[in-house]
Amino acid sequence: MDKLSIVVPCYNEEESIPLFFPAVEKVVNTIEGLTTEYWFVNDGSADHTLEELRHLHTENPEKVHYVSFSRNFGKEAALYAGLQAATGDYVVVMDVDLQDPPSFLTQMYELLKSGEYDCVGTRRVDRTGEAKFKSFLSSQFYHVINKLSQTNIVPGARDYRMMTRQMVNAVLSLKEYDRFSKGIFSWVGFKTKYLDYHNVERVAGETDWSTWKLFKYAMNGIADFSQAPLSLAVWLGSGSFVLSILGIIFVIIRRLLEPSSSVFGWASLVCLILLIGGLQLLCIGIVGKYIGRIYIQTKRRPIYIIKEKQ
Ligand code: UDP
Ligand code: MG
Repeated sequence: MDKLSIVVPCYNEEESIPLFFPAVEKVVNTIEGLTTEYWFVNDGSADHTLEELRHLHTENPEKVHYVSFSRNFGKEAALYAGLQAATGDYVVVMDVDLQDPPSFLTQMYELLKSGEYDCVGTRRVDRTGEAKFKSFLSSQFYHVINKLSQTNIVPGARDYRMMTRQMVNAVLSLKEYDRFSKGIFSWVGFKTKYLDYHNVERVAGETDWSTWKLFKYAMNGIADFSQAPLSLAVWLGSGSFVLSILGIIFVIIRRLLEPSSSVFGWASLVCLILLIGGLQLLCIGIVGKYIGRIYIQTKRRPIYIIKEKQ
């Protein structure tokens, strides 16, 4: 018998949990030779998520487990906690809002079982039901990060994926504080197969990801998996150095040819000072972002804190 661990991060999902569990059970019960365990992670929800999880656990004490955080640590921390708690030979990560269709589980398991792949991921091929601007931003994000980073991030890939124990252990061995799962799953390597599907809207509750939050998430992803922004200072610095040399030559020649030329250009001088000052601040800011990351990492704070575990 193989054991499948189902890891489910939950943040304010009291309405989705009672729908999620039977929907997944229906699918996994049809897979032969497989036992399952659930690891729900309550990521500091403010609603009755924890009560729902306690209830589910008392009804299925062997099967359903949960970890409850002392506060909201974010989905990445919740994923990490779930992966650490999971004991299965195979581990699947799923959203609780049924945006990750449980019907894929059978196929994912079969693909892993065949031994050909170490991981089966999913990829959305469209984004119906999502704001146009948001879709545009995300496609730009994939474009930029794949240009800047050595780690290839598959466009539209969801966190919904099933992995072998070997790959899970590899993911757990990355202990960084700022966790960008999309990058981490790709960074550890292993052979991954992607299944395509059309976007499904969440069954209940609402998404916590505003456009601004997604933008910050994208920026963090870039800082976590690329050092290209750090080179910006070098390029900008070299560029303005070359320009200033040209400027000096121009001024000297003009002075020699036309000794009486009058002083002009107060406005353009102010613009130049502002431009250069701005570029300097931008570069310092980028360097600061990376230093901030080093600072947080050297503190070695735990990625999450558990208040209750069953
Ligand atoms: N989630 C979490 N912590 C958070 C935000 C979200 O554990 O701080 C969980 C949430 O309950 C859901 C999953 O992460 O199971 C994905 O969140 P959501 O559906 O809001 O994101 P989307 O599917 O829109 O990317
Ligand atoms: Mg969702």
